[in-house]
Amino acid sequence: MAAKIDEETCTACGACAEVCPVDAITVDETAKVDAELCSECGACVDECPVEAISLEE
Ligand code: SF4
Ligand code: SF4
Repeated sequence: MAAKIDEETCTACGACAEVCPVDAITVDETAKVDAELCSECGACVDECPVEAISLEE
């Protein structure tokens, strides 16, 4: 499973997209994760200032 964005919480700051090593995140009105690309590394989860990202089991 890929990283999951809580779109209600996301402020579209872009921090997660900056750290994603595989460029799986695009940020428009909220961040979105391309599940095909996500390697589940967890970098975005640690970076998000509002804890809007989680890794699904
Ligand atoms: S878990 Fe890693 S690969 Fe997946 S979206 Fe976050 S930073 Fe990118
Ligand atoms: S770091 Fe968090 S708040 Fe910022 S764009 Fe990514 S998910 Fe949204």
